[in-house]
Amino acid sequence: MAQEYQTIIIGAGPAGLIAGRHLKNALVLDKKKEIGKPVQCGEGISRNALKLQGIKPDDSWISCKIYKTERTMPNGKAIGKFHKETMGYVIDREKFEKYLARDVKAEIKLDTKVINLKFENNLWEVVAENGEVFKAKYIIGADGPSSIVRRKAFPENQNKMKFVPAVEYLIKTEKELDMKTIKIYFDNKKYNHGYAWIFPKSKNTANVGIGSIGNFSKEFDEFLKNVIKKNYGNYNILENRSGTIPVANISQCEIYKDGAFLVGDAAGLADPIFKGGMSQAMTSGKIAAECILENNPDSYEAKIKAMPFADKKLSEAGELFYNLDNKVLDELGEVFENKELSYIQTFHGALKTLLNLVLLRNIKKFLVLFLVWRRTKDYI
Ligand SMILES: Cc1cc2nc3c(=O)[nH]c(=O)nc-3n(C[C@H](O)[C@H](O)[C@H](O)COP(=O)(O)OP(=O)(O)OC[C@H]3O[C@@H](n4cnc5c(N)ncnc54)[C@H](O)[C@@H]3O)c2cc1C
Repeated sequence: MAQEYQTIIIGAGPAGLIAGRHLKNALVLDKKKEIGKPVQCGEGISRNALKLQGIKPDDSWISCKIYKTERTMPNGKAIGKFHKETMGYVIDREKFEKYLARDVKAEIKLDTKVINLKFENNLWEVVAENGEVFKAKYIIGADGPSSIVRRKAFPENQNKMKFVPAVEYLIKTEKELDMKTIKIYFDNKKYNHGYAWIFPKSKNTANVGIGSIGNFSKEFDEFLKNVIKKNYGNYNILENRSGTIPVANISQCEIYKDGAFLVGDAAGLADPIFKGGMSQAMTSGKIAAECILENNPDSYEAKIKAMPFADKKLSEAGELFYNLDNKVLDELGEVFENKELSYIQTFHGALKTLLNLVLLRNIKKFLVLFLVWRRTKDYI
């Protein structure tokens, strides 16, 4: 006979583990043999993202404390300044997820791949590859980019999402890295709706990658040669951490029906500009659990859609930013070099922007980008 729970959470990533921390009469299923493995992530997370979950940064899972996000434009000029306070972290995601799992109230069952689900007599039936069957009133689809919950229960969402491939390696470098700075490289000619990155993990290790639509193997080779090798000497690839980042315009998607919730990457909640998704995954996992506890599951979709990270303006801003000409990015680099975007709010910043003809011609776009950034920055 099928085992019955109030809730079945499919996926033990950040979204599922946070939901499982709040729900007692629940089962978390994951196809993984071990929590946290394999890692398919740059492991960057903001200080605010942890604060929103009430998680105190813990040295046991922090690889590097970050004080600066450096955004390099095609001409080599970099936006971003060094902050006195920690802005975020590069974490050890395997250890972080194991840490989250310690406080999960729900039962966790690993090595259990869900292969089918159906809704019958007001109950969800979840079938695992090993033949086990589970039943529940609620299911939380926390099963990441290729979510079976999305494909089975919300098939209409599939065509409304962009799946951005992200190639990433954990590498060991010959020369030392800057352990306090996350480096991002924009080039709208080379990368389609994406960018390249270096996230330091230690003095001589880093996650380096590119997320971009289409085939970018040539661009990745160039990045390894012209940026990594040139600045950090010879390197060894320690691990392939590549994956896919699903991005949806949430305002057009259904994410709750008949007791089934989509959270995190399964819902397509990753940031359409920087593609990070851990914060939104944890927040949506928490909100889904709260809706169940409050016996008000129907409110989930509206609550998520009201979150700044689900604002359709964010998707529009992503389109706007990645369609800017490289010449515009270069001019942004000139005016905002070593400064934060908030520089535009100062008298000098506003004046320098208005006196730059290329930027002046695009001023409406920058205002949209700036307002969206200000509204969402604390949630992603
Ligand atoms: C290369 C790369 C770099 C990234 N860098 C960053 C970054 O620096 N910062 C950031 O915030 N985000 C980053 N992201 C995005 C981030 O990793 C995701 O947004 C985040 O993991 C989403 O969490 P989640 O819990 O929704 O899904 P996931 O972490 O994907 O967890 C889903 C879980 O579901 C399980 N599962 C899937 N299918 C089934 C099934 N059928 N049955 C049972 N279990 C199943 C999986 O095993 C997995 O454990 C990156 C992504 C990639 C690919």
